[in-house]
Amino acid sequence: MRIQFFVAFAAFVLSVTVPSAQAGKKVYISVDLEGISGVSGDDQTGPAGAEYGRTRKLMAEDANAAIRGAFDAGATEVLVNDSHGSHRNLLPEDLDPRARLITHNFKRHGMMEGLDDTFDAILFVGYHAKAGASRGLFAHTGSGVVGDLQINGISVGEGGMNAALASWYGVPVVMVSGDDVAVAEVKESAPAAQGVVVKRAINVRAVELDSLVTARKSIQAGARAGVTAARKTAPVRQSTYRVELRYRNFTYPEVATAFREIELIAPDTIAFSRETMPEAYRLIRVLYRFINPD
Ligand SMILES: [Zn+2]
Repeated sequence: MRIQFFVAFAAFVLSVTVPSAQAGKKVYISVDLEGISGVSGDDQTGPAGAEYGRTRKLMAEDANAAIRGAFDAGATEVLVNDSHGSHRNLLPEDLDPRARLITHNFKRHGMMEGLDDTFDAILFVGYHAKAGASRGLFAHTGSGVVGDLQINGISVGEGGMNAALASWYGVPVVMVSGDDVAVAEVKESAPAAQGVVVKRAINVRAVELDSLVTARKSIQAGARAGVTAARKTAPVRQSTYRVELRYRNFTYPEVATAFREIELIAPDTIAFSRETMPEAYRLIRVLYRFINPD
């Protein structure tokens, strides 16, 4: 009698605690600022800028459009990672209350903090072109000290570097929004992603903006289509990750060689290899953000 009760009780506990195979999708959203709808000037990108307060709202509205699209497509969990500058741009009171928010830039995995293999889909919102792009609003990689970043011989921007980490975990990047240059660039690393162009770069400063209403509708539709089509893959892992980082100065590379197994391969360029993408990612981030030779 007692055994029968135990078996029945155990079956009951299992039925409540084991997640069903039909569980809804878990979605990760990384939100940068330069590629946000309506963002076009230097006075919008940081707290010292006169237009920054408005811009935080614009950033939240693009994020909310992506969150709506994700839930439209059956997401049951959405994690937003503030991925610009201080990583303290998005105000929790402005965000769709169904999402959780990671804030502050003291993160080992930066724009991809909190991602792991339990997620089903990744959305990149407000992304921009890489350092050196001749057209592309606010084109840069990381912090502005980077001239070029290569991973296993391929030049990548923030989107490409983040997509490489996503592949490591086997989570597909299913949407990217930003200007036309950024979207085309990120799709080189994530060809299946929905590309949502919210503005067209005329050059590195001037831009033709879609209306905010149009842009947010496009982001919501792109997120919905991307999350609906999302299929997890087996993790894509290279045997080694060789990184070459060319700086726009000669001081950072000088300091960088203090780290073990980082070599100077030109006066402005360092190289190193790591066995895993998360290790490579963390070190790249330290090398462009946390070195300060001044
Ligand atoms: Zn960025």
